Amino acid sequence: MIALILEDRCNGCNTCVDVCPTLVLDATDGVPVIARIDACQTCYMCEVYCPQDAIYVASDQFAVEHVTREEVLASDQLGKIRHDHGWDRPGEIGHLDDYRMLGPYLGEGAETSARRYAARHAGKGAPANPAPR
Ligand code: SF4
Ligand code: SF4
Repeated sequence: MIALILEDRCNGCNTCVDVCPTLVLDATDGVPVIARIDACQTCYMCEVYCPQDAIYVASDQFAVEHVTREEVLASDQLGKIRHDHGWDRPGEIGHLDDYRMLGPYLGEGAETSARRYAARHAGKGAPANPAPR
């Protein structure tokens, strides 16, 4: 489940709000709010799309993990999935395929998030993140 948004890293872009397949997050004038954590399916889409590496999603799908900013920073996990799967490297293919192979939740989450991301950037020029295929 999503566990933490690091306020000092977040730039308020609301990309995580847009791509969350199950509408867990609410937009604000600044840092999004984790409003419906019970709906989180641990798909990691908010984490991989966050351009600031400001979101930590814990691996337990059923229980909330309480972590501090310091613990997350010390874990070296922030942005790891994003970087390991090439999400931050435009032109490199295969990052969505990895998620489809990981199971229905991740596959469904990736498809839904890709649609929302594409809609968000429609007509706005090249997005800052690699466009999902
Ligand atoms: S995607 Fe990252 S930087 Fe953008 S609002 Fe969400 S947490 Fe903040
Ligand atoms: S892990 Fe997936 S379901 Fe949970 S908040 Fe992030 S995008 Fe939404």
